[in-house]
Amino acid sequence: MMSSQRKSWLISLVVPVLNEQDAIVPFLRRVIPCLEEAARRISNCGAYEIIFVDDGSTDATLAALSAERRNNSAIKVVVLSRNFGKDAALAAGLNYALGDAVIPIDVDLQDPPETIPLLVDSWLEGAKIVNALRVDRRADTALKRLTARAFYSAYNWMAERPIPAEVGDFRLIDREVIEVLKLLPERARFMKGLVSWVGFPTQEVRYVREERGAGLTKWNYWRLWNFALDGVTTSTTAPVRIWTYFGAGVSTVGFGYALFIVLLTLIAGRSAPGYASLMTAILLLGGLNLVSLGILGEYIGRIFNEVKGRPLFIVRSTVGIDTGIPTSKQIPEMSDGQNHL
Ligand code: UDP
Ligand code: MG
Repeated sequence: MMSSQRKSWLISLVVPVLNEQDAIVPFLRRVIPCLEEAARRISNCGAYEIIFVDDGSTDATLAALSAERRNNSAIKVVVLSRNFGKDAALAAGLNYALGDAVIPIDVDLQDPPETIPLLVDSWLEGAKIVNALRVDRRADTALKRLTARAFYSAYNWMAERPIPAEVGDFRLIDREVIEVLKLLPERARFMKGLVSWVGFPTQEVRYVREERGAGLTKWNYWRLWNFALDGVTTSTTAPVRIWTYFGAGVSTVGFGYALFIVLLTLIAGRSAPGYASLMTAILLLGGLNLVSLGILGEYIGRIFNEVKGRPLFIVRSTVGIDTGIPTSKQIPEMSDGQNHL
């Protein structure tokens, strides 16, 4: 990895932001010394860039970013045309990042920037992916921790490649892995799942998740639920396939029971009234039919979205990004190159 022909190594920080006007200055104040420290650890002098992805902010986030860029040209901004969600914003950032190592990070300082030099150390030791592990989620509510735990155990039970429960989007990804990630054509970007799926030598660094610095969380349980559904449906087909076995089991029992009733009528000459058992069977099977249809719907809806092939995000403008950069053809991305501020 560390070939000596290269003069300098670039670290890219990718920061998705949605209505974070008050978080930007404190974030930069804390993160820049850490980046400088990380750059120092790389022999032959390292450099850094900070790519903010404005995910459709409606407050003064963009103005705050432009003001900061005047002091520090390492700050670059990609402005999306509307809110596309954090995963799409991250994909946009990864697409524009030029670094040899790329680190997605939240702007709210919940991912402590002091961890960055540690991530870089592991990378220098040869890891292609360095996951930051939350050792302590005390900053999250008990309900959020509980739902997260339930999700990860369900996910890891079904998915082909498990994902560690304590890892968020905060990690270091080597250029080699970034290029592989860009080749994955899917629109539903469940980053944790994708990063685990591609493989490569992975290391871990531990950190304590902090309280949000400024502003408000964008997450709510509905978003979290949809995130979980995306995670499961993009990583495993177990929920649709299980109905084959379930249906086979129920049919076998139903067939046995039908045989039993017929024999009872023929031999004992008795036709049972059986309202309760009839009703139970109808309701149970009706309910199961609806659930399995709903699960099919979850997959078909996603197939529909993939087939439409719309871009993952639309870039409205960029600040400080070299327009001549090669953009990957594979990753859905649209930028007409106009309006470069
Ligand atoms: N974010 C974003 N687009 C969204 C939601 C969130 O770019 O639609 C950004 C947000 O500005 C922040 C990061 O994603 O930098 C994490 O969001 P948040 O802190 O709200 O999530 P939490 O830490 O509560 O899971
Ligand atoms: Mg947060």
